[in-house]
Amino acid sequence: MSLEPHHNMSLEEMDKRSLFHPFTSIGDHLANGPRIMSSASGVHVTDSKGRRYLDGAAGLWCVNVGYGRQEIVEAMTRQAEALPFFHSFTSMANEPSIRLADRVLRWAPDHMSKVFFGNSGSDANDTNIKLVWYYNNMRGKPAKKKIIARNRAYHGVTIGAGSLTGLSYCHQFFDLPLPQILRTHSVDQYREKPEGMSEAEFSAYLASELEALILKEGPDTVAAFIAEPVMGTGGVLVPPAGYFQAMQEVLDRHDVLMIADEVICGFGRLGAPFGTTHFGIRPDIMTMAKGLSSGYQPISASVISNRIWDVLKDTSGEVASFAHGFTYSAHPIAAAAALANLDIVEREDLVGNAAKAGAELKGALQKRLGDHAMVGDIRGVGLMLAVETVADRATKRPFDLSLKVGARIVAKAYEQGVIVRPLGNMIAMSPPLTLSSANIEELVTGLGRAVDAVA
Ligand code: PLP
Repeated sequence: MSLEPHHNMSLEEMDKRSLFHPFTSIGDHLANGPRIMSSASGVHVTDSKGRRYLDGAAGLWCVNVGYGRQEIVEAMTRQAEALPFFHSFTSMANEPSIRLADRVLRWAPDHMSKVFFGNSGSDANDTNIKLVWYYNNMRGKPAKKKIIARNRAYHGVTIGAGSLTGLSYCHQFFDLPLPQILRTHSVDQYREKPEGMSEAEFSAYLASELEALILKEGPDTVAAFIAEPVMGTGGVLVPPAGYFQAMQEVLDRHDVLMIADEVICGFGRLGAPFGTTHFGIRPDIMTMAKGLSSGYQPISASVISNRIWDVLKDTSGEVASFAHGFTYSAHPIAAAAALANLDIVEREDLVGNAAKAGAELKGALQKRLGDHAMVGDIRGVGLMLAVETVADRATKRPFDLSLKVGARIVAKAYEQGVIVRPLGNMIAMSPPLTLSSANIEELVTGLGRAVDAVA
């Protein structure tokens, strides 16, 4: 131990010496060092070298109200001065988290009953797995425990949530997934819907595959199905028409719960309050994070339906306490930030703007890149969009992943002052919901030049 500060060390050197970055190639990082962000305002962020970028990713799909929102900062400061922390175990409470639970339920569908707060999307999905298991134990169905998740899903990285995630790179070398997790198809209409098949037929096929899996495993062993309304990290995959209705019919037939992972879609990104609202899903559990606080504070929520709450309440006499929760569940500063964030979303009608700006951005992308030899598909809902690059448009042949086409486009986009995210051969966009027409032009111009530069 030496507490002597490293006065002469650059931040870049200190980073490489000390900071272990999530989802980062260790080799690339040690060779190239970090890109350090220093400040931000509106939809723009500025790095430590003074370069300004339009943040077409809203951080990690989360800064929905944009940067520099003084009223959120002030709400956090007021709360930090009054009560920076107190826990919520053993009936303890604080005002902002009570008000936030009430507010979340006013946003959520009417049949949702209670809000359990966590700190990240991952821990909320772990909570959901435990809730599903607990619910079936309390109902006297201890064998009903398997959870079906989809290929290419992203539900987080903790042991439980990481097992729900359906991306092999999140499992490899980590000994995941857990054996209770089953897998079904994703909803890749561009690559997996056969030529000539309608969306409704594709939905019916996916629902029949789900039912076949439940029957094969035995309905008495299957507890829940989890889905992102629009799949995010897996490639911004929009379900075919009628998909969730067809899937829910199967789930209802076999007494299987529906978990909607709204971590990206929730609070307006799709131009509707939730993905659940947009697609007419009737969830038993909703996972929320990101847009709940726009990333100003880490906070997540597991929102449960009356049906689940009733079982928990009616059987509560059988257990000493519901023995699950985090030190920082219902953190007062995070709840204050989330409340101020939702004030902005409501006052500025950012849900409406996401619909309007999303349509405009998609149209501008189609105009600029729709006929590009390297672009196979442009898709998305609201302000959750992606461009999929291909080696051959006619055959949809993908680029070999070793060519790192997505990452190269993103690197070129940085040079153009635009941040977008690579997802393999795809480029994802999820800008703040405040996006203006001028911002759309800036984003599409930068991305267009970046694609041209890699072509
Ligand atoms: N669920 C979805 C749909 C996500 O997109 C993410 C993160 O991107 C998570 C869960 C995990 O959230 P966190 O990174 O806060 O653990």
